[in-house]
Amino acid sequence: MYDVIIVGAGASGSLCASILKLNNKNLNVLILEKNDKLGKKLSITGNGRCNLGNLDMDIGNFNTNSDITRFEKKLCKRENYLDYLKQIGIVVKEDNGRLYPYSNQAISVCKSFERYLEHLNVKIKYNYNVTNVKKENDLFIINDSIKAYNVVIATGGKSYPKTGSTGFGYDVLKGFGHKIEKLYPSLTYLKTDYKYIKDIAGVRFDCLASLSVDGVIEEKEHGQVQFTKDSVSGICIFNLSRNVSKYLDEGKKINVIINLVPEYNDDELKTYINSFNEYKIEDALSGIINNKLASAITKELKLNGKVVRQLTQDQINDVVFKVNNMNLGVICTGSFDASQVTVGGASLDYFTDDLESIKCKGLYAIGEVLDVDGKCGGYNLAWAFTSAIIVADKISKM
Ligand SMILES: Cc1cc2nc3c(=O)[nH]c(=O)nc-3n(C[C@H](O)[C@H](O)[C@H](O)COP(=O)(O)OP(=O)(O)OC[C@H]3O[C@@H](n4cnc5c(N)ncnc54)[C@H](O)[C@@H]3O)c2cc1C
Repeated sequence: MYDVIIVGAGASGSLCASILKLNNKNLNVLILEKNDKLGKKLSITGNGRCNLGNLDMDIGNFNTNSDITRFEKKLCKRENYLDYLKQIGIVVKEDNGRLYPYSNQAISVCKSFERYLEHLNVKIKYNYNVTNVKKENDLFIINDSIKAYNVVIATGGKSYPKTGSTGFGYDVLKGFGHKIEKLYPSLTYLKTDYKYIKDIAGVRFDCLASLSVDGVIEEKEHGQVQFTKDSVSGICIFNLSRNVSKYLDEGKKINVIINLVPEYNDDELKTYINSFNEYKIEDALSGIINNKLASAITKELKLNGKVVRQLTQDQINDVVFKVNNMNLGVICTGSFDASQVTVGGASLDYFTDDLESIKCKGLYAIGEVLDVDGKCGGYNLAWAFTSAIIVADKISKM
């Protein structure tokens, strides 16, 4: 019989178990993990560096269908979880506002958790796939065999299922009467039908990207856009991707509008182009934008090969407009297999301020299985860690 069973040894489950034991060493805690090791997803975060937080912890970086303000105080005070991480041996440093482990290695974060949980005598059963969670006479029964007074669902969302997060937690919570907000992939690439996308595959370019929804600009992000043979990606595109699947589901028209030279206004661009009036237009442009982009834009306008001085002012205006408004139609997002985080999930409205189920006493949920997602920049791990602390504090006080 266990005091607490945590399903999932990912980011949230590992921290939750550590704090439970730190707060009360007499608690009998078991983690059940289907993989053969802890933190398979955690070990690949932040391009292998694990971006585990941010200096800017404004609540606007988080999204949910519910009211998140009741968690704002804890979520936006990053010292809460950084202090715990320090105790575990995970010291952080800042890089451009983002927080990373000093080791610069996501895998070392997993190792620190492993060592610490062992030191605290937390039992972890690896290669254990939870398929069934029931409650009978005040006791939870897992897979018809292991019993506990409290169960914490820390199974993650649906993104990157090869790391173990296949969406099982949603089924469990649904079975206990919880509402699951519709799931969509987020922080992923956007597939485009732009005619010349193959010509610009491989280009990476710093620019200002905007998301247009039915012709109205909804969001703008600065950063590097990476062009592939059929899509655009990069952190700024990931951040724009959050609602795209939902909008496409609703039949809305989505475009990514790219301002390739946001530092130049129209007049400055025109002056720049006109100063090379003996050049072919694509050559004139390639002094200021990547030559593949210059070629795609001029092909699109059917001006490729024309010398600048032969162009009319209207034609030059068209070129300037395209450079500042390269328009890519979006046909879909990357799937869950290629998305960093899941939008939607178990509605916060069905949980108390301690993240205990209002449908079933002793049942808790933490991390990505809940309907909270964040932008790129460490916000998703911030939520995983903060929610883990909220639940560990509640259970260990009982
Ligand atoms: C490529 C990539 C890069 C990312 N980079 C960052 C980043 O730099 N910063 C950031 O903030 N976020 C990042 N994220 C998002 C972040 O990793 C997740 O939001 C976070 O790991 C969620 O934590 P979690 O504990 O809820 O779930 P997870 O970390 O996914 O852990 C869930 C665990 O539950 C286990 N499990 C699931 N079902 C069962 C079952 N039935 N039985 C037993 N065990 C089960 C899984 O095997 C898994 O180990 C990234 C995601 C990806 C895919």
